[in-house]
Amino acid sequence: MSYQGIIEKYRKHLPVSAATPVVSLKEGNTPLIPVPRLARWAGAPGLRLFVKYEGLNPTGSFKDRGMTMAISKALEEKSRAVVCASTGNTSASAAAYASRAGLRCVVLIPAGAIALGKLSQAVMHGAEVYSVAGNFDDALEMVKKVSATGKLTLVNSINPYRIEGQKTGAFEIVDDLSDAPDFQFMPVGNAGNITAYWKGYKEYSDLKKASRRPKMMGYQAEGAAPIVRGEPVKSPQTIATAIRIGNPASWKQAEAARDESGGRIDSVTDDEILSAYKALASQEGVFCEPASAASVAGLKKYAARDDAFARSAATVVCILTGHGLKDPDRAMAVMPAPKSVEPRADAILKELGL
Ligand SMILES: *Cc1c(COP(=O)(O)O)cnc(C)c1O
Repeated sequence: MSYQGIIEKYRKHLPVSAATPVVSLKEGNTPLIPVPRLARWAGAPGLRLFVKYEGLNPTGSFKDRGMTMAISKALEEKSRAVVCASTGNTSASAAAYASRAGLRCVVLIPAGAIALGKLSQAVMHGAEVYSVAGNFDDALEMVKKVSATGKLTLVNSINPYRIEGQKTGAFEIVDDLSDAPDFQFMPVGNAGNITAYWKGYKEYSDLKKASRRPKMMGYQAEGAAPIVRGEPVKSPQTIATAIRIGNPASWKQAEAARDESGGRIDSVTDDEILSAYKALASQEGVFCEPASAASVAGLKKYAARDDAFARSAATVVCILTGHGLKDPDRAMAVMPAPKSVEPRADAILKELGL
């Protein structure tokens, strides 16, 4: 049978039963793309480097892996409505899956801090979107209170079914490579995804489907780096809006993933993020959103500090969490606008220097 989404593919590893009504948009099964030019750009030309392009999920981010589980379970548990706080991609995904399930979807977004592509998705899928004064962390506090009434199901990544769904990203990587990579680099925001990947790698190695576990390398934006600083950040700042989070819900689990794997959690500047964002698009043909590029910026930073790593032939995967089209304003802000030219062949050739 053709591909049916992550629940059917990895059913025996997930908390679902024959009674679970599966709500799927055939998420997952995303490509693991070799990127040798990017390895040279990062200063580590010998690496066997791949990007996992999660922007190719149905709503354009990895959130769909978690949302197919969260919404299917909400339906199984006879919920009528779901609620989330969101920097954008969670709401886009929740809205899409809720519309398919016939559930009401309520979204709280931090005022003025959400990329246009993401907001347009939530609106189009019929979510009830409210902008709240404050940042993501404030919106998440509100969502916790509202869902505590039992009238709405919370579908942020503190919902354990989200983590279950998202761990399938690790399964796919191991299935593709026939083993786990040596290192995995990824952005860290609310820290659900690093928690999920580490769970997936541990489960697969326990089942002997992988002979090793990767070092988990998580990257926060410098202006939103609570785990690196060891304390919450009151007003987090970064152009990478998907990781603009000052008090991650899965903080402890992220530290456990780091420590158990022998990895690290570090920060990268917005300039480093934008430089990786441009390199991915212009040298490898892969367009991701700024937050996703924190993984590749982190790789470059790590390679610059660890000579043995930079010269090694390690197998490395960078997770590209969301699609570049989510945030077209950022792309146009960092690249030159198109020039105008007379509609004549000679004028065009002259412009081209040909
Ligand atoms: C949600 C998101 C992140 C952060 O993931 P966490 O699980 O919150 O750490 C990173 N990048 C993109 C594109 C996202 O949508």
